[in-house]
Amino acid sequence: MTAFWAEPDFDAHELVQLVHDRASGLTAIIAVHSTYCGPGAGGTRFWHYENPAMAMRDCLRLSRGMSYKNAMAGLPMGGGKAVILADEQRIKTPEMLAAFGDAVEGLGGRYVTAEDVGITEADMVAVSQRTAHVSGLPVEGNGTAGGDPGPFTAYGIYLGIKAAVRHKLGRDSLSGVHVAVQGTGSVGGGVARLLARDGARLTLADINEARAASLAAELEGTAVSSESIMATACDVFSPNALGAILDDTGIAALDCAIVAGGANNQLARPEHGEKLAARGILYAPDYVINAGGIISVATEYLARRDGRMGDVADVNARVEQIPGRLEAIWQESDSSGVSSDVVADRMAQKLIGRG
Ligand code: NAD
Repeated sequence: MTAFWAEPDFDAHELVQLVHDRASGLTAIIAVHSTYCGPGAGGTRFWHYENPAMAMRDCLRLSRGMSYKNAMAGLPMGGGKAVILADEQRIKTPEMLAAFGDAVEGLGGRYVTAEDVGITEADMVAVSQRTAHVSGLPVEGNGTAGGDPGPFTAYGIYLGIKAAVRHKLGRDSLSGVHVAVQGTGSVGGGVARLLARDGARLTLADINEARAASLAAELEGTAVSSESIMATACDVFSPNALGAILDDTGIAALDCAIVAGGANNQLARPEHGEKLAARGILYAPDYVINAGGIISVATEYLARRDGRMGDVADVNARVEQIPGRLEAIWQESDSSGVSSDVVADRMAQKLIGRG
């Protein structure tokens, strides 16, 4: 068993809970990386993994990522994550969700869950029947925090892109700045709309080509194939689809000054941050620029816990701090010569008492 504690992905997690419920067939992992800043917060992923080791690795990495993301967003929340191991048919039953809710409740608030891949708002409502340590529940009125986090994530990315353009290109306006957006879903679509309002020139791509084409028509941009978007000559490449796109091949293909987008885990391996820097490309660390969604989710949870409603104005005020954090990271990176991803990791580690 010593091997497990020595695994790099374990990274001194405070708690890793293996859950099995015979009656419902639920098998899950709940990982709490750090509660230094507050309860470990992060969504639940419902996914079919090739084997349990892959599920464990995913859960641990995501959980640590949440510690960093929440700390850098200035939230009084730690980091955690859960995965429910789905079978090949991905069968999800109300009994499984109830058993999962019981498991979350059993941790007494050390872990707070929300939606992630494969889990819907309705699933979270079901989980909330068994535990109060849930967020991402339906919004209860206009101006109330909660609901779909996508627009808040998009707003933070838009502000982050503006900050990057100011830092790298010395331009205060986005007018005429060319942004290539990969993925035009909830986040990428929102980012593109905000950029268009400021007069940015847009090139858009999505594997759902009709989606990219209709957004391009709406925003007077250009739609290109998803194979060519990373090589588009532009000022800003904004990844808003998949993770691990910044690998050797992806970085070599880039023809931009800035990478700033919402996809999680954009760097394929840690050394790819340095490779971007070596090419003179300014990188906005993903978990810093894409924190708008968790800011919304956490605000909703904290307000409900304190018996009040969260306010959208509070969420926006916190999201508006994202550019300042990015600027601090880039300044430190410029003065130290250390790549921005490593600077961000070091700042986050300090914030969670591990610096
Ligand atoms: P989404 O499913 O709404 O949109 C993703 C889009 O990417 C889809 O339109 C899909 O067709 C497209 N896509 C998938 N593979 C592609 C490829 N190879 N090339 C081009 N397009 C491709 O998801 P979303 O909520 O917009 O999330 C996008 C990314 O942002 C994900 O990595 C997600 O983890 C991350 N993220 C989302 C939030 C949020 O609040 N929704 C918060 C933080 C991070």
